[in-house]
Amino acid sequence: MTQLTPQPGIMDIALYQSGKSHVAGVEKVIKLSANENPFGPSPKAIAAATAAAPGLHRYPSTDHASLRAAIGEVHGLDPDRLICGVGSDEVLQFIVHAYAGPGDEVLYTEHGFSMYPILARMAGATPVVVAEAARRVDVDALLAAVNDRTRVVFLTNPGNPTSTMLEEAEVMRLAAGLPDHVLLVVDGAYAEFNEGFDGGAAVVDAHPNAIMTRTFSKIYGLGGLRVGWGYASRAIIDVLNRVRQPFNLSTLALATAEAAVRDQDYVVFCREQNAKWRAYLVEELAAVGIPCDPSHTNFILARFADQDEAEACDAHLQSQGLIVRKVAGYGIPNGLRITIGDEDSTRAIAAAIRAFKEGP
Ligand code: PMP
Repeated sequence: MTQLTPQPGIMDIALYQSGKSHVAGVEKVIKLSANENPFGPSPKAIAAATAAAPGLHRYPSTDHASLRAAIGEVHGLDPDRLICGVGSDEVLQFIVHAYAGPGDEVLYTEHGFSMYPILARMAGATPVVVAEAARRVDVDALLAAVNDRTRVVFLTNPGNPTSTMLEEAEVMRLAAGLPDHVLLVVDGAYAEFNEGFDGGAAVVDAHPNAIMTRTFSKIYGLGGLRVGWGYASRAIIDVLNRVRQPFNLSTLALATAEAAVRDQDYVVFCREQNAKWRAYLVEELAAVGIPCDPSHTNFILARFADQDEAEACDAHLQSQGLIVRKVAGYGIPNGLRITIGDEDSTRAIAAAIRAFKEGP
């Protein structure tokens, strides 16, 4: 028996639960559970990965200058105010690591991304959950929960698994209402699904204690590559770089993400497809009496009569090889989160849910 003792709080960390990708006994599945892009990455990104492979004997760039320049150009942001990480998960980890520790509180909202409390505990800080109002972030409740120990406030906008979005004025009101010792994190993992939306960049520009995080895992179809980024003041970026490992992003990750962000035509294509099939699915579900909040993401949250019905529908979908995400663990017991797929998979899930509701 080992005498080793983990640091206090480590054993309180609940392991992250990722979505299913297999169904026992079903050979061919349609996976609509992880908000992945059904079209995969841009062909230009794949070509860049192949082109970068011969250079793999060299260590990668430590400052990510080329990728930051590309992101800066595309988004109109100062590259010196950008930081890149192994998925936005790692950028979120830098933030909590650098700004919160034992005795400090990290706030997040009721249906917020499940990594926030995990990251808080990894840093030895205390995660504090704040109620939402009908699956929308409640700015007043968040502000009321802030105290002297609060160090970080997480806002997912648009939300996951809610798919709802706070308007910019509300995010500005939150940022303006926070005291100077609190950092606001605006997590824009799903920002690109909203044409013209800046993901929170204007909030960062208006408030020095704010950071925006973004990812290549969603609209760019590069969840397997693990690249995300953050935008904040130079002072915050300087702090975060001190807790970043020098070679955190691989040569392949850097080259592929750079080509992906430069291919905005592909992003437009993916956003348009998402909007089209999302509208179709929402309409199909409404026709069989299943409501969804207006979605600003690449998934919808289907709300069933109760948890029993949601679970029965999930079981029915699984029997057809359709994998969606149950969200009872995220405080929405009657919900199923369904990623928007391509035409075939969207038509397939709509038909399967209709069959479930209408019976054989
Ligand atoms: N934030 C939100 C709201 C997410 O849903 C996810 C992925 N599920 C992430 C951050 C992390 O994404 P990644 O680490 O792949 O960039």
